[in-house]
Amino acid sequence: MSLAYEPEPPSVTVRAPAKINLHLGVGARRDDGFHPLATVYQAVGLYDDVTLTLDEEWGVSVRHDAGRPAAIVPLDEQNLAVRAAQMLLAHHGVDGAAAVHIRKSIPVAGGMAGGSADAAAALVATDRLFDLETSDDDLLAVAARLGSDVPFALLGGTAIGTGRGELVEPITDAGSWWWVVVGSDDALSTPQVYRSFDDLVGAGAPTEPVLPPALLLALETGDVGALADHLGNDLAEPALRLLPTLRDTFDDAAAAGARATLLSGSGPTVLLLCSDGSHAREVTAAMAERGHEHVVAVPAPVSGTHVLDVLDTL
Ligand code: ATP
Repeated sequence: MSLAYEPEPPSVTVRAPAKINLHLGVGARRDDGFHPLATVYQAVGLYDDVTLTLDEEWGVSVRHDAGRPAAIVPLDEQNLAVRAAQMLLAHHGVDGAAAVHIRKSIPVAGGMAGGSADAAAALVATDRLFDLETSDDDLLAVAARLGSDVPFALLGGTAIGTGRGELVEPITDAGSWWWVVVGSDDALSTPQVYRSFDDLVGAGAPTEPVLPPALLLALETGDVGALADHLGNDLAEPALRLLPTLRDTFDDAAAAGARATLLSGSGPTVLLLCSDGSHAREVTAAMAERGHEHVVAVPAPVSGTHVLDVLDTL
């Protein structure tokens, strides 16, 4: 038996939030295949934690805290967290590898940008683990190359997103909002929902979508009634066409007393706006009574990607 002391390898754990879109304005498909967006992002209190541990080679493991996922999370270099870590190392010309562990609470393929949250968390963890001292501007630029929702996952809070959603600008949000998040056993693929949008709206969509000023005012004043009146998502109808059973969730949400109901991004997660924390608990119970299994109340806005733990024994 060896009694030699073996130090733990250095590791960093980083937490990143899910996002919702209070307004998702989608423009007509451009020649390059992308749709221009005008969106208001809000970070909500549902998180993935990503741990990077220094290793000889790359590896990924995932623990699903919210039960069986609706879609498969890749366990190879297709995983967005691994791609993010590798991209940041390449940006700095640094060689290295890590074991990536993801503790997932954000629904997979649910329209809450869980993969993007993992990518944002992996960027921050890589920066810290390898002591890269990446500037904020560089981190945001690498994030934008990884995916449209990754820069916002870094930022958190409430922000406007333009371009493909990757150009983010924080805005004033005076509210302390509560949402009830209703997950689905079904997955919706984001590209499929955009194709449904093209079929339904096509060239009728604006070339440059705009944001409703009344929504921005509701956020500035923290007025829940005004927010309820001005939420919107151009992908709701296209998603409902692909998954008509979502209408039942909308009906249940109205019966459960939600102030307003919104499809999260490209779906199928549904968001119920509540007056405050105790209203959110009532609505959560009412949705569970109606047979919904994945229901959780979350506050918003919350902060963006941040370091939780560092174990550095080098
Ligand atoms: P989008 O960000 O495109 O709107 P979404 O929020 O609906 O998508 P995600 O959970 O981000 O859904 O996953 C979309 C797909 O990305 C998954 O089906 C999966 O194949 C792939 N993927 C790659 N890496 C990850 C990851 N770390 N977590 C979740 N999904 C991942």
